[in-house]
Amino acid sequence: MLSQPQTFRPYDGSAAWHPFTQMQEFLETPPIVIKRGEGCWLEDQGGKRYLDGTASIWTNTLGHAHPELDHALREQLDAIAHSTYLGVTHEAGARLEQTLARISPANLTRVFFSDNGSTAVEVALKLSFQYWQLVGQPQRTRVLAMEEAYHGDTFGTMSVGGSHLFHERFHHWFFPVDRFPRPAEDGLDMDSVLEHLRATLDRTAGQTAALLLEPWIQGAAGMALQPKAFVQEIEKICRKYNIHLILDEVFTGFGRAGPMLVCQDMNVEPDFLCLAKGMTAGYIPMAATLASEEIFDAFLGEYLEYKHFFHGHTFAGNPLAAAVAHRNIQILESLIPSEDHQKRLQYFGDKIENTFSEHPGVSAIRQRGFTCALDLNTEASRAGHQVALHARNHGLLLRPIANTLLLVPPLIISTEEIDYLCENTANAISQTLSNSTL
Ligand SMILES: *Cc1c(COP(=O)(O)O)cnc(C)c1O
Repeated sequence: MLSQPQTFRPYDGSAAWHPFTQMQEFLETPPIVIKRGEGCWLEDQGGKRYLDGTASIWTNTLGHAHPELDHALREQLDAIAHSTYLGVTHEAGARLEQTLARISPANLTRVFFSDNGSTAVEVALKLSFQYWQLVGQPQRTRVLAMEEAYHGDTFGTMSVGGSHLFHERFHHWFFPVDRFPRPAEDGLDMDSVLEHLRATLDRTAGQTAALLLEPWIQGAAGMALQPKAFVQEIEKICRKYNIHLILDEVFTGFGRAGPMLVCQDMNVEPDFLCLAKGMTAGYIPMAATLASEEIFDAFLGEYLEYKHFFHGHTFAGNPLAAAVAHRNIQILESLIPSEDHQKRLQYFGDKIENTFSEHPGVSAIRQRGFTCALDLNTEASRAGHQVALHARNHGLLLRPIANTLLLVPPLIISTEEIDYLCENTANAISQTLSNSTL
């Protein structure tokens, strides 16, 4: 007998375990149960609306329930939801490959799909290591990565990451990585950083496989900004020392940092490019690692030479994700260069400057593209969390990292919504810092 339809039961969290969440605290706080979304807004099951101030953790580009994205998804669903990419292909995947190759630097001709940002980086690292083995330089095992880097939470990506807070307790199981410092945003110390890198590579280049970089912005480090030209200097160094350049644009890509891709904007040709987050407009998990034809060629051979890449994720190339990603990119290609978009981007920067530069609760602002970090002017250990709780009462969802608030709205945010975001954030900060119990 079929069971009766379940009557509505209030959410009780009895089976829940959320990512990056202290569950004791989570279970003590009334949860926000998201029911639907539209544009920049999320609505909970009680009908309360919240501006999505994190773009659903940095993924949403065109807003929720975008009619054209929904349509692309439904159209694909009518054909097929999933078919493997192991040894067969499909139209949605093939079309997205071509689109990604077209919008990327000209040298990047091959697209390897996976599910998420971490896997995109794992794939780039493994491809680099295997490439050097295939061309007879197996001694190239070292990797260079920036301090405070974040490339994901799997073991390989934790190893290359430099996040003490997130990953230190797993340090025992990491592979060794050579670190280089981040130049300050004003670029005054860029020459000494480059000098440091050259000095390292003078010793290690022959054993080094790749250098990994989040260009322009290290999101998880609290929107730590680099001089824009740094990525070009890094490319020159990688060429000079003949090591691979892996760019992790999981966060910065698809308009988040301003242009469609930082590498394209800066005329930088990495050997590998990692994409995820905004690629599918924040709809469905999917990632891509792009590589050059030279790297691809090294993996070609007779089957029994076993040169091919023994790596794959079950849902690689998922057609639903590919269809929505393709439509997202088409829309972004006309949106990003448009005057309206560029004006809103300017407005976002100006509004942040005007709202927070004199705010007593804010000690530093870092803003580029549709990203912003506000360091709170306090020593109180949970102030960022408190601000986010206050912001909820003002109809705004934020996700801080320690005492840094991150404002990362969907790219289609209107000027009125930018006002709403900034003003309610400012109020939540004032309320928190005037609360003597902190
Ligand atoms: C989020 C992020 C990742 C990891 O992506 P997941 O999809 O969470 O695995 C990697 N690199 C950067 C720069 C990111 O911001």
